[in-house]
Amino acid sequence: MTSIGEQSLGLKVFGGAEGEEDATPALLGSRCPTCGDVRYPRRVLCPVDLGECEELAFAGTGTLFESVRMEIAPRGFEPPFLVGFVDLDEGARLFARLDWPDGVAPSHGDRVEMTVGVVRRGEEPLLGPIFVPAG
Ligand SMILES: [Zn+2]
Repeated sequence: MTSIGEQSLGLKVFGGAEGEEDATPALLGSRCPTCGDVRYPRRVLCPVDLGECEELAFAGTGTLFESVRMEIAPRGFEPPFLVGFVDLDEGARLFARLDWPDGVAPSHGDRVEMTVGVVRRGEEPLLGPIFVPAG
């Protein structure tokens, strides 16, 4: 299977779990050692000061900024499903799939944690980060 970053960016977006088959891989981003700017997806050069960025493995925890329920899905996606903006604890915001318990609506500020799953089906299933309620 291919992960979402490998396909869209040509960069690995997961790492940190080699040799730990049961471990959830870490989401990879970047941090600028000069100004501390944190980004996902990772950057080679800092967009603030053009310094060379370091790889950062996110803990995978964060806060839900907002979400939307998709009723009309693009090809390869099965509606309905949830997507939203997650503010990672290290400081980056990303748009990702959400997986929420039936009958429970996501709310601003909900604590979330990352899992990895199939975000698009097709000839080659696409893996990506999926955020679920923390706990
Ligand atoms: Zn910087």
